[in-house]
Amino acid sequence: MKKVLVLGAGQLARMMALAGAPLNIEVMAYDVNSGQVVHPLTLAPVLSGLDNAIDYAEVITAEFEHVPHDVLDSCEASGKLKPNAAAIKAGGDRRIEKALLDQAGVANARYQLIHSESDLALAAETIGLPLVLKSALGGYDGKGQWRLKTMDQIPAIWQDIAGFLSNAPEQSIVAEAFVPFQREVSMIGARNAAGETAIYPLTENVHTAGVLSRSLALEEQGDLQQQAERMFNAVAATLDYVGVLAIEFFDVNGQLLVNEIAPRVHNSGHWTQQGADTCQFENHLRAVCELPLGSTAQIRSTVMINILGEDTVPKAVLAQPGCHVHWYGKEKRPGRKMGHMNVTAASHTELVQTLDHLAQLLSENSFPVVRL
Ligand code: ATP
Ligand code: MG
Ligand code: MG
Repeated sequence: MKKVLVLGAGQLARMMALAGAPLNIEVMAYDVNSGQVVHPLTLAPVLSGLDNAIDYAEVITAEFEHVPHDVLDSCEASGKLKPNAAAIKAGGDRRIEKALLDQAGVANARYQLIHSESDLALAAETIGLPLVLKSALGGYDGKGQWRLKTMDQIPAIWQDIAGFLSNAPEQSIVAEAFVPFQREVSMIGARNAAGETAIYPLTENVHTAGVLSRSLALEEQGDLQQQAERMFNAVAATLDYVGVLAIEFFDVNGQLLVNEIAPRVHNSGHWTQQGADTCQFENHLRAVCELPLGSTAQIRSTVMINILGEDTVPKAVLAQPGCHVHWYGKEKRPGRKMGHMNVTAASHTELVQTLDHLAQLLSENSFPVVRL
């Protein structure tokens, strides 16, 4: 039994635990908010305190990037943390992330760090409008972002940002060029300590109000897949990365620009549970436990649909061939990621038909983008 401690006790740790069981990998989860070490499925405490868990575990990994730096540093000091602390910190701080993208030589949106209203005006002049303004720390699901469309909005937007910054002195703002993309895609892949990688086919992602709604595994992307793999390999090598890494891209007329990275398994990779030979959770555990990486080949046409703010779906959904529901065991809250559905079919045409059926079963309110 290999013992793996995951920093974070949400659905990603839960799905790692499910994927680890057949490989005799025991997964424990450190709940950063409560300070407890828990079983990832029952959330019952299993060990007292982080220090004990660090001693007990053979490998330590993370399911999210916003882990307090002192926790990351103690884990790194044990020699068990994969990916390394610097990689996790880069995913949690847009200032480090942007510098990393430049260092790796991958295309990303032009940006400037801003600390004052005059910095903002300067950024608007040098980069141009519209600007997307993002808090450096703690952002997820589009939270901590502002859009600047016209110069006359600067005083009002800066007033709002200044209020935000006054409560969080360690924060700053990254102003980046608005990218007029046709679509968003992401790449999920695993890298092991020997530098070998196993990369999944690109995924096309649709967001609604900043939150991922639907991910479609793409087939035969040719040049686009190659572009993304080049950038994936450059970023992963620069970080000396071990584990699954996700990279989000903007597709602008067939040219990819990196939006951001996530140093972990990723929502847009959940389709691999039913659609790929080896799922991202298993491949992450394989990479960090020094087991051979599994095949990332796509085996079915697959879409992932997030279930937001609902804790049931009609039974008829499960009756649809190829439809698999994954609940996270979370308390219901409006808009919260409660689970996801993976829908698979033998061909893209069949998948389109299945999704047409599903759209009739699901309320348009909660599931706005089911049809392909
Ligand atoms: P996540 O939950 O993916 O971590 P996040 O809060 O880190 O989200 P981003 O991915 O940076 O936020 O931005 C959220 C969404 O806003 C993007 O998926 C994209 O649709 C849009 N967006 C972000 N930056 C830009 C940009 N520079 N130009 C155009 N759209 C953007
Ligand atoms: Mg993000
Ligand atoms: Mg994002």
